[in-house]
Amino acid sequence: MNSPYMGKFRVSQEYKGAAHDGLDLVGVDSKNIHSTVNGTVRFVGFEANGFGNYLKIQKDGTDEWYIYGHCSKIIVKTGDNVKITDIIAIEGSTGNSTGSHCHYCCRIDGVKGKFKDIAALSGIPNKIGTYDDGYREPVSPPPPTTPSEQKFAIGESVIISGQLYGTSAGANPGAIVTNRATKITRYSKGSPYPYNTTGDLGWIAESSIKAADTAPFAKQILLNPGTWNVRKTPSMSGEILKTVNGGSTLDYYAKENGWYKLDNGYIGPEAVKEEI
Ligand SMILES: [Zn+2]
Repeated sequence: MNSPYMGKFRVSQEYKGAAHDGLDLVGVDSKNIHSTVNGTVRFVGFEANGFGNYLKIQKDGTDEWYIYGHCSKIIVKTGDNVKITDIIAIEGSTGNSTGSHCHYCCRIDGVKGKFKDIAALSGIPNKIGTYDDGYREPVSPPPPTTPSEQKFAIGESVIISGQLYGTSAGANPGAIVTNRATKITRYSKGSPYPYNTTGDLGWIAESSIKAADTAPFAKQILLNPGTWNVRKTPSMSGEILKTVNGGSTLDYYAKENGWYKLDNGYIGPEAVKEEI
């Protein structure tokens, strides 16, 4: 199998032809995305309502363009020649995405609608599950992942155990949190509180981030049709924070009293069609 990851990764959505022209993949051992072909970078760009930060690589001598979507960061630029296993991007959740993943697909000449069966091309099983492609990250030298001044990458799961500030300049913490799993959504260079959290709950100082590597990976749920309430506490009497539409997928981090703990709030078991 030839995946954009090294080591373990997860298939979170299957290839379904026109309905979903790629595989959704989630790195387990690493969020580094590697080129799956020897080729040339033909396009690097951003699509707010689509692939977010994404790139297209043409495989040498073919009309197959491989696309890697929703990245938090792209390492290469248009015109670069890349080899299989070169790190080209970091997984993220940019564009139309509800959780960190890579939409990995192949389109003829890069044209939307002219897709090829990426599962057949790559040998990645077209079935939700966790797999290992057998490659390992080189131990030395360490691959470039994030700029040196940015310790935690956008899209990364972290645990905050400390003060959460209302504003980036805030002298007073808006809240003190304990062991809350969240994701980094923005980075403010030079700020004493450089990291923003999912849902714009506030900014965090690096000293409030307990760990990145040990943060529990988000799992995902698929919602039943309808409209569902997200509540502050895991019970029907909990304050309603917002509503979400059925049919979508959400990240969750834990279950409490049968309820699913989201980035911000809880959703009840009746809303959930399946855990994916
Ligand atoms: Zn996808």
